[in-house]
Amino acid sequence: MRIETDLKLGFKDVLIRPKRSTLKSRAQVNLDRTYTFLHSGKQWTGVPVIAANMDTVGTFQLAEVLAEHKMLTAIHKHYSVDEWNAFLKGKDDDIYSRIMVSTGTSQEDFGKLKSIFTSNPKLEFICIDVANGYAEAFVEFVRRVRDNHPEKTIVAGNVVTGEMVEELLISGADIVKVGIGPGSVCTTRVKTGVGYPQLSAVIECADAGHGLGGRIISDGGCICAGDIAKAFGGGADFVMLGGMLAGHDESGGELVERNGQQYKKFYGMSSATAMEKHAGGVAEYRASEGKTVEVPYRGAVSETVKDILGGVRSACTYVGASALKELTKRTTFIRVQEQENRTYS
Ligand code: 5GP
Repeated sequence: MRIETDLKLGFKDVLIRPKRSTLKSRAQVNLDRTYTFLHSGKQWTGVPVIAANMDTVGTFQLAEVLAEHKMLTAIHKHYSVDEWNAFLKGKDDDIYSRIMVSTGTSQEDFGKLKSIFTSNPKLEFICIDVANGYAEAFVEFVRRVRDNHPEKTIVAGNVVTGEMVEELLISGADIVKVGIGPGSVCTTRVKTGVGYPQLSAVIECADAGHGLGGRIISDGGCICAGDIAKAFGGGADFVMLGGMLAGHDESGGELVERNGQQYKKFYGMSSATAMEKHAGGVAEYRASEGKTVEVPYRGAVSETVKDILGGVRSACTYVGASALKELTKRTTFIRVQEQENRTYS
């Protein structure tokens, strides 16, 4: 046994220190980023915020709206090949740089991925997603997908430490997804005691990943636009959102009404709800590591998107960053013991 005593920080432990700036308005801030990916060699330009591949978030309907804002959606893995084909029929070419095809790591997943790409060769992104990205079999799967799809941009995760980011990049990932335990409907830390405060994970993984020419996604734990700004400030190339995009017209999940209030169902992909829906129940050997909740219904997602992007733009103006690209180098975090004033919340 060993104890690491360095302090590790979450979003709630810091604020961004303001800096003198010549920017006149947040309208001047450019949120587009352009990346050229390590293995695929593909160039991508857009607003690097991604909807999570959860069936109550990353739907085709949400993707259509987020694409209008140049944002990405990791489409959840439970759509059939036919549903994929139907969705893409007649779509503009722009959609291909705004969506990711998610997959697990079973033989069946591998076959389905192949079918989706064979029918739709213009698709660009593959998101290989497991709860625990530390298994050797996972790394092996990433290698296999890289060998079979040399020109596609591969996202792999989740991990939270630099050495594993490096291993995944060396094994064929272009982008590594970072986050174990911070998610709004995640119970991994409670069920297993395993995790890593998200901001420190992002800072350390970005350092390791950028050293090899890779990119990282901060996945989970953002509860407000300020947290997204902190993730970018910490070095994240992309930020993935679940809960912040749940509860809208375009998010999946049933709409329920109670006492005149409307709610939408939102659940973790390892929750009992998800396992019952997609895997015929919670297997004997495992515990569910996700919650099922009802979030207040929030209407059209476009208003939330404006709020999110407005917040990030404003963060940039406070530190004098005229583009999102400059935010990390202009960020100084201060450790704090307070966040917002909650008198009226
Ligand atoms: P949020 O933005 O809601 O805080 O976090 C979204 C992320 O939580 C997802 O992208 C995914 O990485 C993670 N997540 C989704 N479902 C589950 C689950 O059932 N269990 C755990 N441990 N994490 C989950």
